[in-house]
Amino acid sequence: MATAIINAQIVLPPEFGVRLDPNLALRFDSRSILSIDRPPQRGDTILDLTGRAIYPGLINAHDHLELNHYPRSKFRPVYANAHQWGEDFLPQLAEEPYVSLRRQPLSEQCTIGGIKNLRSGVTTVVHHNPLHPPLRSPDFPVRVVQHYGWAHSLHFEKNVRASFRKTPRGAVWMIHLAEGTDDIAAGELRQLHALGCLQKHTVLIHGVGLSAEDRQLVIAQGAGLVWCPSTNLFLLGATGDVRDFSAAGKLAIGTDSRLTADGDMFDELRAAARTGQLSIAALFRAVTTDAATMLRLRNVGTLLPGYAPDFFVAPASSDPYAALLSFTPHNLEAVYVGGQVRYQR
Ligand SMILES: [Zn+2]
Repeated sequence: MATAIINAQIVLPPEFGVRLDPNLALRFDSRSILSIDRPPQRGDTILDLTGRAIYPGLINAHDHLELNHYPRSKFRPVYANAHQWGEDFLPQLAEEPYVSLRRQPLSEQCTIGGIKNLRSGVTTVVHHNPLHPPLRSPDFPVRVVQHYGWAHSLHFEKNVRASFRKTPRGAVWMIHLAEGTDDIAAGELRQLHALGCLQKHTVLIHGVGLSAEDRQLVIAQGAGLVWCPSTNLFLLGATGDVRDFSAAGKLAIGTDSRLTADGDMFDELRAAARTGQLSIAALFRAVTTDAATMLRLRNVGTLLPGYAPDFFVAPASSDPYAALLSFTPHNLEAVYVGGQVRYQR
């Protein structure tokens, strides 16, 4: 059984633009988008979404899904390196409110993270930490990438090389790197490279302390960067220069968790836009097609035939890409994952 959405703006990658043709439909079933350039077919369920835009489900390239029920926390006004924040935070886990919040069942902690994402148009999340059982469930609110390698950071991971080697075939390996403005952060990329862990499937998280030379090396190696500007600005009072990564198609955006971020993906996109580094088209690619390519996710990130039917419905506008920067969860009318409504206002 297929569903045909008619009379809606279809938000395609910026190079294709926005499509609104009263004779054509976005047709999908539970597995994939079937067509965007045909009229509804006999037997289709028709959904008339006049006045609405259909956006591809966004990709959140970095979150810690079980940490989104904590308050935004820091223990000094500004850090030179996120390692200091980590060292400050660990003893706090024995204090309130963290003690009580840690007692919440893990499934609830994860669900809170899932719903945060879903309500900001995100349908695919890359989780950083072990893949907890609730994140493997097909009933989890959003798709969670199931195959990945990861290390916390050079500071907290004892055997970085072993972590790198354990990466499942075909998956990316991720590490928080250069999350600071000090000399330690500035030296981390060279350290990673010396360990042999800067390769095509390496994904760096943060990269605030990367030099121009470092950035060129990362791109030359075929690796990429996940940018979390609101967390960077909160903890470090600074964020990285991401323009080279964006131009190379090697930039994705992550919300990180609510422990350090402004909020959800809409908030993160606004924080990214406020830095003035990227056009709205580049920001859009960083949460859709570029994220999918960099993270080796095969069938998500765009509304083209063969891709997963993951999308959200919001009001139509004259510039749907720019409108994304004004959205809050209240603008979303529905979010579909796998062709099924997962959230409806
Ligand atoms: Zn993180």
